[in-house]
Amino acid sequence: MKIAELLKKKTTLSFEVFPPKDEVPLDGIQNTLSHLYRFKPDFISCTYGAGGSKRGRNIELCEVVEKSGHTVMPHLTCVGHSRDEMKKIIKDYIDRGFENVLALRGDFPAGWNGTNGDFSHADELIAFLSAEFPQMCIAAAAYPEKHISAPSLETDIACLRSKQDNGAQFIITQLCHDVPAFERFLEQIRKAGVTIPVIAGIMPVLSCEPIIRMTIFNGCSIPAELAAIIGKYQNDPVSFTRAGIEYTAVQLHRYIAAGVNGLHLYSLNKWEKITETLNAAGISN
Ligand code: FAD
Repeated sequence: MKIAELLKKKTTLSFEVFPPKDEVPLDGIQNTLSHLYRFKPDFISCTYGAGGSKRGRNIELCEVVEKSGHTVMPHLTCVGHSRDEMKKIIKDYIDRGFENVLALRGDFPAGWNGTNGDFSHADELIAFLSAEFPQMCIAAAAYPEKHISAPSLETDIACLRSKQDNGAQFIITQLCHDVPAFERFLEQIRKAGVTIPVIAGIMPVLSCEPIIRMTIFNGCSIPAELAAIIGKYQNDPVSFTRAGIEYTAVQLHRYIAAGVNGLHLYSLNKWEKITETLNAAGISN
């Protein structure tokens, strides 16, 4: 199923998972998926490791999702890839029945200053994919508080417009705890002529140190409400998780009220806490 088609009909619910390390069997993630499937997700996206380290496992995991009868969306990055390699990868996706791909530049491995491949930015990859493989539904990433290396939100939104103009059919956003900032972003991109659907990427607040690390790594802000949870429960992991789940459940409704076209939960491969969060929010598909 092409996700862009689905987005014409409904607000989607979906999850991101990541492939386990090479030596780890797939049983654990298969178990996680079997629990996430209870929410009848519209699709599952699978991350793609930078520098080629997890390429094989990305395909393996996507195949597991596809074979279960669910729609899969592999992530794909420009890092280290030539045009010919990209062609082979997408032909392989098509042979396996995948119809969607999230086209990204990727984060550079330590010590790299660029992609060391034929594509420097996601918009170039998107242009290539939409010209060579018009049958694929292509998604792009966006950053409500701007990408960390972008000089301004305006220049970043111009890059997002370029992704749309080059063939991206919908957007998935980076984590953003600040819903009013997200709403301003939505207004700004619409004014800039970005008309494609926007799915909110939601990072559930489950553990103190990882949420601070991921938020800072992505150059995102920590609103007062979340800062209060961190301040109160930073030394009490159980209470932190309970408060974080309640907070995330409320956030999900704030995103729906903001008019997003879908909710995409970064599952962190943790089905129990995701289940608790969605149950607390009363959200199912
Ligand atoms: P780009 O669109 O290329 O943007 C990168 C920077 O360059 C931005 O500052 C932008 O403003 C600027 N820019 C964009 N186009 C141009 C241009 N034509 N000329 C000049 N400047 C330009 N990373 C992974 O490695 N694997 C994953 O699986 C993965 N999944 C992700 C899923 C989501 C939903 C999101 C939001 C991010 C994900 N990332 C992943 C992280 C992502 O790869 C990084 O954020 C990366 O730094 C930027 O990727 P991009 O596709 O947005 O790049």
